[in-house]
Amino acid sequence: MKKFDVAVLGAGIAGLTTVYFSINEGFKTVLIDPNIPGREGSYNSVGILTRQLYTKREILLAIESISILNEIIPDIDTITYDRRFITIEDEKTAFQDYRFYRKIFTDVDIYYYGELPSDLSSINLHVNEAILISYKDLMVNTREVLRKIYESIVGNENLIEYRVKAEKISEYDGEGYTIYLENGETIRSSNVVLALGAWNKYFIEKNKIYLPISTYACIAVRLEINGSIPISGSDEVNYLYWMIEGKSRLVAGEYHQSTPITRPDKTDDIKLENREKSVIKSLMDRFKNIKELRLKEYIVGPCSFPIGKRPLYKELMKSLFLIDGLSGYGFTLAPALAKEAIDSITSKT
Ligand SMILES: Cc1cc2nc3c(=O)[nH]c(=O)nc-3n(C[C@H](O)[C@H](O)[C@H](O)COP(=O)(O)OP(=O)(O)OC[C@H]3O[C@@H](n4cnc5c(N)ncnc54)[C@H](O)[C@@H]3O)c2cc1C
Repeated sequence: MKKFDVAVLGAGIAGLTTVYFSINEGFKTVLIDPNIPGREGSYNSVGILTRQLYTKREILLAIESISILNEIIPDIDTITYDRRFITIEDEKTAFQDYRFYRKIFTDVDIYYYGELPSDLSSINLHVNEAILISYKDLMVNTREVLRKIYESIVGNENLIEYRVKAEKISEYDGEGYTIYLENGETIRSSNVVLALGAWNKYFIEKNKIYLPISTYACIAVRLEINGSIPISGSDEVNYLYWMIEGKSRLVAGEYHQSTPITRPDKTDDIKLENREKSVIKSLMDRFKNIKELRLKEYIVGPCSFPIGKRPLYKELMKSLFLIDGLSGYGFTLAPALAKEAIDSITSKT
């Protein structure tokens, strides 16, 4: 039976970055996923990595993840649309958030109604609203990010890949775990990192472990624009976010459009027709220089929402790590959690 130091289950953003750190530490690593790496859940991510988040822990993870992606992909600027990000909020919340962010990172400004700089003057800001702007975030082409991370690990002498589904894992037996694969093979690993995204919950249920996670389909739309939007951002007043992908395209979504699903592979059942209508209306209301927005495609993928604080990261059992509960923020949080998992394994060996 083949033996490894680290087994990584799942090859999305969480699994691929875990493998990156694992092989760099010199661990004999196995990556298990039945699908082409980076082609499932993470493939449909929009690509906003902002530090304008809700808790100090999340912000620190975002700072670390941005730095990690800059390290793994030295030419990341070639697949980056912008580094600036705005949040529109009511004046009071914006001021509170501004003070909170300033304690953690300094490249953030606040603009009140009637004070917008000329490059943001096409935003319809209302009385009692304000804008926060940060300058060192990342708006990226996520499919290219995944491809480039995979390129940086594939062929490494410390990495073996199995393109097969993991069925279940054994109990810890004092030395490690046995992983049972769908093709009947079994492998051994001293450490296991579960990076199965929305599939974690269903996989781990077989080991009689309950994860406090709800599974949702996150939905976004890719739109052609006739006109212009000056910057990527989120509108917390209207529960809307958008990312500009060049002169004539953007992706956008509304937080409340996330829809509960019974299993991650059930996203095909969701009715998508007309989902773009309210997104288009909100964007047209918010920006002055849009003549037309036309639907190019719907984007939908499974997301795992923790019941409680985000993310759900922990050592589930001895040497069994879980990266989960990333909600719509997997690119922003997972690379840093991947590093934490491998750092924990390193510190024990
Ligand atoms: C529309 C949309 C917009 C989003 N926008 C953003 C954004 O702007 N910024 C951001 O940070 N995040 C965003 N997200 C969230 C982000 O995409 C997810 O949080 C992230 O992709 C989760 O990554 P993951 O590696 O945990 O899981 P996944 O990418 O889902 O990877 C899990 C992997 O596990 C594999 N797998 C499943 N079962 C098994 C098994 N039994 N054995 C082996 N392998 C298995 C799957 O094939 C898959 O490759 C968005 C998501 C969606 C859907």
